[in-house]
Amino acid sequence: MAIFYPQAQLHPCEHFNPRPEGNAGEVSLLVIHNISLPAGYFGGNYISQLFAGTLASTAHPSFTELEGLTVSAHACIRRDGSVIQYVDFMQRAWHAGVSSFQGRSSCNDYSIGIELEGTDTLPYTCAQYIALADLSNYIIAQFPKITIGRIVGHNDIAPGRKTDPGVSFDWSRFRQSLEFMNTKTNTNTDTNQDNNKGLSA
Ligand SMILES: [Zn+2]
Repeated sequence: MAIFYPQAQLHPCEHFNPRPEGNAGEVSLLVIHNISLPAGYFGGNYISQLFAGTLASTAHPSFTELEGLTVSAHACIRRDGSVIQYVDFMQRAWHAGVSSFQGRSSCNDYSIGIELEGTDTLPYTCAQYIALADLSNYIIAQFPKITIGRIVGHNDIAPGRKTDPGVSFDWSRFRQSLEFMNTKTNTNTDTNQDNNKGLSA
């Protein structure tokens, strides 16, 4: 079974592999990232090329440090709110790197990674928040183990190493746009909301 977001444009990507079998690979975490290539520049196809393994290191001086990097995310939301999906949600994308959530390492095994085209300091666009809400609500409906406390930033699972999605990301605005914040009674004891607030402040 493959799961693709119906509103996404699909883009080829070689950087993924199967999740572990059984519980170890059951999706229970959503990770928000940011990316821009070159840093601080938006538009163009460099992000898609990076994930596809086709980015020419000569296209920009800063790209030489990306040479040989095999990374991906399940999806990326462009500044205009359009969603590109690279990896089937059932497969393991390579977005988290060395990471740990609540004592459990290798977050790629059990998480979905979404990139926002942006930087840690520049506000994300309204269209991106709308698209992220729609996409996240779709993912949460498919993977009910993702609870409010299990939606985190890359900085939360790789502290000291990663800073994205950055202070520019409005966690409160994002959380309020999630349907289960409005429709589900909050009786889940698995939440980590206080910790997230601290980490994303
Ligand atoms: Zn990241």
